[in-house]
Amino acid sequence: MTRRHWMNLLATLGLGSAAASVTHAAAPAPAPGPNGKVELPDAEWRKRLTPAQYDVLRGHGTERPGSSPLNAEKRPGLYHCAGCDLPLFSHETKFESGTGWPSFYAALPGALGTSRDFKLILPRTEYHCARCGGHHGHVFDDGPRPTGKRYCNNGVALRFAPQPG
Ligand SMILES: [Zn+2]
Repeated sequence: MTRRHWMNLLATLGLGSAAASVTHAAAPAPAPGPNGKVELPDAEWRKRLTPAQYDVLRGHGTERPGSSPLNAEKRPGLYHCAGCDLPLFSHETKFESGTGWPSFYAALPGALGTSRDFKLILPRTEYHCARCGGHHGHVFDDGPRPTGKRYCNNGVALRFAPQPG
């Protein structure tokens, strides 16, 4: 390896770590157990997640609308669970809903589980990551074609991974 190659490699590595810190991937993704699920004690989630991520993913909180930089994200890539790094959505199904939350009309196959939620009197369908159970948002029936669904996701619960190249 020549000196120039070595310097290029160092520069690439430096760039890589800077990019990772922007997407605040604090700790490496937790390893799934034998059942394919990521199950951690509450104290461990508190350590791994930022307070804002914890509030949404483990506390079923809702971020302030318009607060996520992912609202404006238009690059090709995948949206991963900030809890366990499972890819949940593709840029191909993202659309501008005008709600102030990143919105998708479909999730990747098998990525989400759902449950009924009666917090706001009217029942809503809550959805969560199929691997770590982290809460992500609610799904509504007023989305665009072809599915008619609107997955209204908290941006802080997602990590965007741009498509390489
Ligand atoms: Zn997850």
